[in-house]
Amino acid sequence: MTTASPHQGMTLRSDPEHIQLWQKLLADRQREHDKAVAQLRDRIAALERELHERPEKVVERWHGAAEIEAAKAEAQRAFRSRQNAWQALCEIRLLHREASDGRCRCGKRYADCPEAQIVGYYPGLAKWEKEQWERYRNYEDHALPDRHPALTNPRWRPD
Ligand SMILES: [Zn+2]
Repeated sequence: MTTASPHQGMTLRSDPEHIQLWQKLLADRQREHDKAVAQLRDRIAALERELHERPEKVVERWHGAAEIEAAKAEAQRAFRSRQNAWQALCEIRLLHREASDGRCRCGKRYADCPEAQIVGYYPGLAKWEKEQWERYRNYEDHALPDRHPALTNPRWRPD
């Protein structure tokens, strides 16, 4: 059996050995081709799987991160809104609470001041004010309202 190239001119058609060689070569090429095609198909399938899975993961990750951000923003809004309510009540309490002589700071008799009665419904208010004042004194973030006397009077103390 020769190892020569099947390209041998006119003898090719009439030489059964060469025809066999051609057939073998073609079969080999076909197998190589089939193998290459199979590898390509595997690769394409792998890429397709990746493409199918990856966007889902990316979307999931993005979605998760966005939801976490939204939840954080919502929590921040809720926190600020609660702080705003505390601040408003705190300011009202600065004007309406019992002074020493049975009177309200506003000048009315304490028992007759409706604002002082309302402020009295919120015992957590004094605690909140004291906490904020302590944070302020420790140079931490605090939520005392801008007009709070503690911010201008160093001798101010919570009661
Ligand atoms: Zn009052």
